[in-house]
Amino acid sequence: MEAIEKNQSSLSVSDMSIMDRPLVSIVLPAFNEKETIAIMVDSLIVELRKAAFNFEIIIVDDGSTDDTFEVSKKLSSRYPFVKAIRFSRNFGKEAALLVGLKAASGEAIVSMDSDLQHPPAIIHELFKKWQEGYKVIHAVKENRDADSILQRGRASVFNLIFNWLGGINLCNSSDFMLIDRCAANVIVKTIGEKERFHRGLAHWIGFNQTTIPFRVQKRHDGSKSRFKFKALVKLALVGIISFTSVPLHLISISGLMVLVVGLVIALDAIASWAHGTTFSGYATLIMVMLIIGGFTIFSLGIIGEYIAKIYEEVKNRPVYIIESTVGVEQRWNL
Ligand code: UDP
Ligand code: MG
Repeated sequence: MEAIEKNQSSLSVSDMSIMDRPLVSIVLPAFNEKETIAIMVDSLIVELRKAAFNFEIIIVDDGSTDDTFEVSKKLSSRYPFVKAIRFSRNFGKEAALLVGLKAASGEAIVSMDSDLQHPPAIIHELFKKWQEGYKVIHAVKENRDADSILQRGRASVFNLIFNWLGGINLCNSSDFMLIDRCAANVIVKTIGEKERFHRGLAHWIGFNQTTIPFRVQKRHDGSKSRFKFKALVKLALVGIISFTSVPLHLISISGLMVLVVGLVIALDAIASWAHGTTFSGYATLIMVMLIIGGFTIFSLGIIGEYIAKIYEEVKNRPVYIIESTVGVEQRWNL
């Protein structure tokens, strides 16, 4: 409510109907974004003030090693509708998005990157679709010029595999999206998974969904992506493993196929032996052993990934640890 009061005062509108405006929450995960976070918040405020909503902005500092949280605290003291949460270390963007959803009290929650690659002006289109009744609105990347060829290739391969195995077409969607309160409640309250793939879950929950296109901007400070290759591989694995058990079925099917081929070759060998000829070929034997050995180890690896996922889930450790908060009520509840 404090946010609404400040919002009202900054607009200097005496109309009491402003109190009836729905509240929207903007969630900004931030890891080492001290150069951009203030510009991002200022640009957002310019856009949000044009919209007919009350608003709050929640910055989630994902264990930054720079002054991101100090800057966020200053922003919060300047604008009471800016709130901040700081993790005790870097827990990853997925965890930051989750805590942002939990802390948000808005009727709609918009998640966007803090580096201005997701242009704040686009939120009006998200709001428009929300007012038309859509519950989840994905902002879909229209261009990928900001990404290197390698990044584009990786994303396409992942989307292809995810679509094929998981049956969900992510079609260039990003973490830039608007989620209605009812959909957010489903994600926060009914999905118990620890390791999450937010973008996939937002598609998976259903409801009335739509997309809007947006042009990805270059990183405002010109720096590199905060994602390390290892984190991206982990996210891809979490995405696929948490959405589908098809790889396990593929192992069974291909194992069966290898067995059938092996049996056919064995029968052929027995028949040849009965006719007095024997198989020779050391190289062939080694080749078959290596292929079957490789296939077995690869299969064990896939099974291992699923076991690792189960292990991570049953350990039941918290997804994140909050070090401090500014302006966020009920910290114990997050
Ligand atoms: N981010 C985060 N935790 C991380 C990595 C990134 O909160 O471990 C944030 C980052 O500050 C940014 C958003 O997630 O606001 C997207 O990250 P980035 O711009 O580095 O990724 P890319 O644009 O390459 O997808
Ligand atoms: Mg970025």
